[in-house]
Amino acid sequence: MQPIRGVRDILPNEIILWQYIYDLANEVFTLSNYQEIRTPILENTELFKRSIGNYTDIVNKEMYNFIDQGNRDITLRPEGTSSIVRAFISNKLYLQQRIHKLWYLGPMFRYERPQKGRQRQFHQLGIECIGSQNPIADVEVIRLAIQLLKSLKLNHYILEINSIGNFQERSQYKSKLKDYLNKYKNDLDKDSQNRLNNNTLRILDSKNIKTQEILKKAPKLTHFLQIESIEHFNEICNHLDYIDIQYTINDKLVRGLDYYNYTAFEIKTKESNNQNTICGGGRYDQLIQQLGGPNTPSVGWAIGIERLILLVKDILQINNNNIIIYIAIQDIQISYKVWDIVKIIEKYKINFEIDLSINHLNKQLKKANQLCAKICFILGKKEIINNYITVKWLETRIQQEISINHLPKYLQYLKTHFKT
Ligand code: ATP
Ligand code: MG
Repeated sequence: MQPIRGVRDILPNEIILWQYIYDLANEVFTLSNYQEIRTPILENTELFKRSIGNYTDIVNKEMYNFIDQGNRDITLRPEGTSSIVRAFISNKLYLQQRIHKLWYLGPMFRYERPQKGRQRQFHQLGIECIGSQNPIADVEVIRLAIQLLKSLKLNHYILEINSIGNFQERSQYKSKLKDYLNKYKNDLDKDSQNRLNNNTLRILDSKNIKTQEILKKAPKLTHFLQIESIEHFNEICNHLDYIDIQYTINDKLVRGLDYYNYTAFEIKTKESNNQNTICGGGRYDQLIQQLGGPNTPSVGWAIGIERLILLVKDILQINNNNIIIYIAIQDIQISYKVWDIVKIIEKYKINFEIDLSINHLNKQLKKANQLCAKICFILGKKEIINNYITVKWLETRIQQEISINHLPKYLQYLKTHFKT
């Protein structure tokens, strides 16, 4: 039996990194009063069509959808923002307060060609700052992404930002760009030709050299921006300068989702592969209203955890093995006593493992060594009858006999010794 294409198991030796990232995110975001939200994986297909946009790659080619037994058109969420906006509206969160600061982590699904850093089930960690038009909100969310990367000891990344203006500015630009590109239609790459009518801006993203060459003389989005868009963008840049966050302005950065306006940004690693974008985000001032909620300007981003892990797994050497006490049992017939001992160890919160084999003591000790346990509690017939434990320190091989009555005191000592 094999898993289906594009999905993978996350095994225990990797989980430790996932837990580490989750805890870190929780810590970093909680400090700024961002609260976790969990939304369902299943949503009505209509939600994503209306939010992400019918002509985008995600909705057009990448959605996992099906008709359920009740004849509903359902989609496994391809991203987090749409669901959070839906939750914001259906739970009427807007009645509680004006500004909501939220974060999430969970699986997303896109039918894509699987390759390194690109899966069909992948995970996104994201934040959404809902309800503020202030450029400081954009800066706060960008800063939190950088804070997170910094606390993961990641240094080699580039923040790219751009302003994609408001809907009007963009649609004026789109039609000018379309006019220009139509003149070179036959020289564009196939993908760009397909995007020409309905997804024109994404052509700016094309990696094709010939298309890039044609784009050099194309009209520029910046020239279509009006004072409000420009001021919003400049304000963000000034703040980023002030807090020493380095960035590059990329006037071709448009992002693949329809709902963005004003700010668009990505964080890329300096590696030269295709999957070098780890974070994507931007402002989405119209989306909530467009989906039936009140006018609520918002901004957010999402990081792909799998891509992040590819980058940090060698930097963060997190030890998976933290067994302190290995409990070897010599005689199953009289092994009930082990539960008394476990109860005391648990009270002191020291990690332990009970040997579940029926092997000889030597083999059990070998196993303890393999697992890098620090000490072994040996429970043999002699020990149980006389109410003590033989303690063997695995590194020094020193052996001690500890009476069960003295066990709490001994565990207290172990706790300080191993700083657990
Ligand atoms: P790409 O251009 O690489 O397809 P995207 O623009 O589609 O990315 P977004 O929708 O902005 O990606 O999602 C934000 C982040 O989620 C990406 O920067 C990436 O880290 C991650 N991501 C997106 N799609 C996948 C995928 N199929 N597998 C793994 N991670 C992904
Ligand atoms: Mg994509």
